[in-house]
Amino acid sequence: MTDERQTTYRIGPIRPPSEANSLLLQITEGCTWNRCKFCSLYRHESFKAFSVESIKKDIDVMAEYARIAQDNLMQDSPRNKRDALKILNNMTRTEQECYYFIYRWLAHGGENVFLQDGNSLAVKTERILEVLKYLREKLPSIKRITTYGRAETLSKISVEQYRQLKEAGLDRIHSGFESGSDRVLELINKGVTSEQEITAGRNIKAAGIELSIYFMPGIGGKSYSRENALETAKVVNAVNPDFLRIRSAVIHKDSGLWEDLMNSSFQLCSENDKLMEIRLLIENINNCKTFMVSDHIINLLQKVQGRLDLDREKMLSMTDEYFNMPEHRQKMFQYARRSGMATEPKDLELLSQDWINRITEMIQSITDEAQWDKIMNDMMINYI
Ligand code: SF4
Repeated sequence: MTDERQTTYRIGPIRPPSEANSLLLQITEGCTWNRCKFCSLYRHESFKAFSVESIKKDIDVMAEYARIAQDNLMQDSPRNKRDALKILNNMTRTEQECYYFIYRWLAHGGENVFLQDGNSLAVKTERILEVLKYLREKLPSIKRITTYGRAETLSKISVEQYRQLKEAGLDRIHSGFESGSDRVLELINKGVTSEQEITAGRNIKAAGIELSIYFMPGIGGKSYSRENALETAKVVNAVNPDFLRIRSAVIHKDSGLWEDLMNSSFQLCSENDKLMEIRLLIENINNCKTFMVSDHIINLLQKVQGRLDLDREKMLSMTDEYFNMPEHRQKMFQYARRSGMATEPKDLELLSQDWINRITEMIQSITDEAQWDKIMNDMMINYI
């Protein structure tokens, strides 16, 4: 890898957890909006859309590494392995990173690709169509291509354009709706309305593209906790997305909402408030085949997930089991969960008496509920 050809490609840092084994192709960098009050992901970079030519060059490098990995490493011959090692030894560190990324991707089936970054569909549809076609042509093992999009951007794309994207190979769109309440959306400066969320969702679904939306219990603070759940349920009912992913709100110290918290214009939701929002949401969604997914450690009861039409009672009874525990035990579980000692309430049985005593002592020493909620929030910051 010493000639003048391009030998590395861009790899951005952000992708949904469900795309952990996907190949990441960066077609844009950053986010076009960058103003949500809870998000500091791309705060220090401005949005950039890469040219089709430069994306194609990245794809060419990926295809070349895929060829080497398949030819040399996927086969069981010691000679082929020796050849592969020779190639690897001549690579720079960045080239090796790019190569191993492809290798791992192929080892996981080489089927899924995620187009980065925060709002890739802001790019003109024709350009994305060209990238999709080239990508599928150069890496024929691909079975699924997904990307992120802001609901406001997504609402401006027509059904016909989505159909073209689907035909060219875009299978799923992830979108952080966060809330279906206009007041909450305004509070967090999301720059989108519930109406735009519904338009975006319906257009995507009408074109046959899968839709995965994200909901943030607790993002409206205590004042809008109930509304956050009830209004989001209305949006879900109107759209019937394929996936509804739960991301309980965590307020970061470098976010605008943290400033609001410090000047008391925003009040943190408790762990119980957030779980109650999830319960309310489940209760108020009707006739949706949506799969509710709890694929993040920040959710208190991660096992509360399932098809909203089929598993509703099971999910509700899991939350009720928690709410039926004495308050002291609920807090004990919250602390154990946030310390990584428990994933579900029954794990409390596994804790040593020494730990139980220590947690009990701590719970008794904190009598201010707002202080407790802040401690839980601060512990969760470590997870993101
Ligand atoms: S649209 Fe997404 S990436 Fe952009 S600022 Fe908001 S949350 Fe962050």
